Amino acid sequence: MSRWEIVKTPHILYSESERETIADKMVKTEEEWRRTLTPEEYRLLRQEGTEPAFSGKLWDTKEKGIYVCAGCENELFSSATKFDSGTGWPSFFRPISEHSVETKPDNRLFMRRTAVECSRCGGHLGHVFDDGPNPTGLRYCMNSGALHFKPAGKDGEG
Ligand SMILES: [Zn+2]
Repeated sequence: MSRWEIVKTPHILYSESERETIADKMVKTEEEWRRTLTPEEYRLLRQEGTEPAFSGKLWDTKEKGIYVCAGCENELFSSATKFDSGTGWPSFFRPISEHSVETKPDNRLFMRRTAVECSRCGGHLGHVFDDGPNPTGLRYCMNSGALHFKPAGKDGEG
């Protein structure tokens, strides 16, 4: 089994309501992305960059809410699946839905890793590893700068 295959999260983990159809793809030219993203967001999302550990704004966030893509606002992760990985990057044991992210092999830097992208705009979010906690055993290691955090509403459910 290749390292890539382990990230195909079993469907049984998702409720019926989460199996919504995938949002329309967002396609922009590199010039458009340069205009709409901050330089740091552009470096992370469009050039597959990585922010230094403990440098981002979200690695230690414990508030309830939803993490969305900084490029297209696609909902990616819930605070309910965030855990303290000790790595200095926001870490989750699964995406908010099986359609929210896509994975692909990343063999740069002489390492075999699995890159995680936003399924809507293709923006690079981070990597997924197989040393996460239950119930998935996966660790989605994300860049803070590739995400925006939307705190749960006062009267909403977290
Ligand atoms: Zn996106």
